[in-house]
Amino acid sequence: MKCRVCRGPAVIDIRRHNANFCAEHFLRLCRDQVEKAVSRFAMLQRGDRVLVAVSGGKDSLALWDLLTEMGYEVDGLYLGLGIGDYSDSSGTYVRAFAEARGLHLIEVDLRADEGFDVPTAAAATRRVPCSACGLSKRHLFDRAALEGGYDALATGHNLDDEAAVLLGNVVKWQTDYLGRQRPVLPAGDGFPRKIKPLVRLTEREMAAYCVLRGIDYQVEECPMAAGNRHLGHKETLNDMEVRSPGAKHDLYFGFLDRAVDRFGSATDDEDPVALAPCAECGAPTTGDTCAFCRLAGQARAAEPVTLRPRRRSR
Ligand code: SF4
Ligand code: ZN
Repeated sequence: MKCRVCRGPAVIDIRRHNANFCAEHFLRLCRDQVEKAVSRFAMLQRGDRVLVAVSGGKDSLALWDLLTEMGYEVDGLYLGLGIGDYSDSSGTYVRAFAEARGLHLIEVDLRADEGFDVPTAAAATRRVPCSACGLSKRHLFDRAALEGGYDALATGHNLDDEAAVLLGNVVKWQTDYLGRQRPVLPAGDGFPRKIKPLVRLTEREMAAYCVLRGIDYQVEECPMAAGNRHLGHKETLNDMEVRSPGAKHDLYFGFLDRAVDRFGSATDDEDPVALAPCAECGAPTTGDTCAFCRLAGQARAAEPVTLRPRRRSR
């Protein structure tokens, strides 16, 4: 197996590019793919200050590393979700990464700062955990990005994530969501610009990137992921990819090239929904109180849910 660029020994094969790469040229490929995404979708300009939401997993830490290497001023934001041992160890990976590189990390802890955690919010509101978690993340990420005056909020969603969400939205024909499946959402009243610079790279490539760059990350999956329907869509797409390399890329980028505009432009303001500040927190909302404040109110009033410690396998 030889590297396509230098003919030296390759460390990874990438079937959708029909090529193998040595460590040096694979890392360069990752940077090139991020640069391509950033420039094609006008995600960032030189001098932009970026806040990257880091979970301790491979994608977000790789993204922080890549954007920093590319010369952007990037701070990290870690949100402690209160999901037992999983959250404790996720935080450890993020802090170690930031410390080793002298990068600035902002931390928000749901339990300490907001008075609840994800397991309690899910139980109190009878939502699936990922729904309570996603709502809290969106709200607190937006708030931190705006308060810190950042130009953009970056998340580590990769090609597998975006293709799986797209498949789910197509299966259910969720046209509102389809219009928002671009890798950039422009800043709006009370919302920061949101960017997904890893959309041209897969989960497997991000894991390889971390190994080759010596980035330690949380390998374990979140114990509350069981109800997450995207996991099933990812498996379906993985099967397709085996039979037809490039399927995920073609699905997602074909949609962006040929179909997304039919579901509304990124700045669509036809028939705008009137937004007013939330009575409790000031974030833009369609009602009196935003969905986050309603969820937080119910969760704070509930008995905290304690997750059972994980059983260690012998
Ligand atoms: Fe949150 Fe669900 Fe992700 Fe766990 S799997 S961190 S509950 S969104
Ligand atoms: Zn609110």
